[in-house]
Amino acid sequence: MKKLEYSGGCLCGYIRFTAAGEVGDPHTCSCSMCQQHSGALTLCWVEFPKAAVHWNGPGGTPSLFRSSDYSSRAFCPQCGSSLGAIDDGPTVGLLLGNFDSKNRKSLHPVSHSFVSSRPHWWKIDIHSK
Ligand SMILES: [Zn+2]
Ligand SMILES: [Zn+2]
Repeated sequence: MKKLEYSGGCLCGYIRFTAAGEVGDPHTCSCSMCQQHSGALTLCWVEFPKAAVHWNGPGGTPSLFRSSDYSSRAFCPQCGSSLGAIDDGPTVGLLLGNFDSKNRKSLHPVSHSFVSSRPHWWKIDIHSK
């Protein structure tokens, strides 16, 4: 069986990635850290094992900002695009907005974290397909 492969990158193309295999925990998040990291009210996350993610753009690995005691937020040093989070543990969280193909079924979010941090007029309907 062919492994599913995903690709994506930042706004300027300096940071590019591929990720292969099982997608972990696709979810949306409206926490204040996601909001400030991106400027967006809600982010869509998908997780991969660190070993499954390859940074293959001209910039190599993204720049990091230490955002908590277990994880760092990743971004492009040239264009500033938010790319995700690289945990100290074996997990990389990638942001769906950077994916080349965003509509694949395996990437569909199944839950929404920190719903209460979003403005009440901002509706996320992750259950409609
Ligand atoms: Zn960039
Ligand atoms: Zn968040």
